Amino acid sequence: MRKFVIMGVQGSGKGTQARRLASEYELEHIEVGDIFRWNVQHHTKLGARVRRDMDAGELVGDDVVEQVVRDRLEAHDWNYGFVIDGFPRTVRQASFFLERYDIDAVIHLVMPDAEVEARVMARRVCAECGLDYNLMSHRPEVEGQCDVCGGELVARDDDNPEALAQRLRDYHERTEPAIDLFARKERVIEIDATLTKDGVFDAIRAELGLAND
Ligand SMILES: [Zn+2]
Repeated sequence: MRKFVIMGVQGSGKGTQARRLASEYELEHIEVGDIFRWNVQHHTKLGARVRRDMDAGELVGDDVVEQVVRDRLEAHDWNYGFVIDGFPRTVRQASFFLERYDIDAVIHLVMPDAEVEARVMARRVCAECGLDYNLMSHRPEVEGQCDVCGGELVARDDDNPEALAQRLRDYHERTEPAIDLFARKERVIEIDATLTKDGVFDAIRAELGLAND
């Protein structure tokens, strides 16, 4: 059984690495943001609370987040373990988690703000088919146009400098102290997230001793 939490600012490649770990080691990928989105789309009671916080430009409240994580972990649908992505975001959420669950390690993807800014501002999405592009690493063949469907490439609404600055502030002020708390109680591995996707994945596996599995 392998149980991990993966942490890093939005744009650090956290989701990509979590998905890859999950598929390579048959872990359940628990993406808290996806659970929120599902609830918003299906107009659940919980979705309404998530919506209210998001519309106010705030982190989703601790109570809601803790409820989601508790329910999700109670589902026990993993045989080989899980990787939690997008949680905890605050010290309170981290202590909630530490009181109730054991994990093997916290994977902390470390990326300087300037690199996060460069990467996020280079993100584009096809307005027609939703395919993701990045003007630094995955350019379209024709500028501004989707390779697959020819649709227009646009920035996501929340990929603007103001929203990004707010996310970075939340991360430094509220989420990094949660990582510090984990570091006092659990194993935290620090990974340089500026490497290539493969480089980051190899570093994670080496640090976790999974390299030869
Ligand atoms: Zn497209």
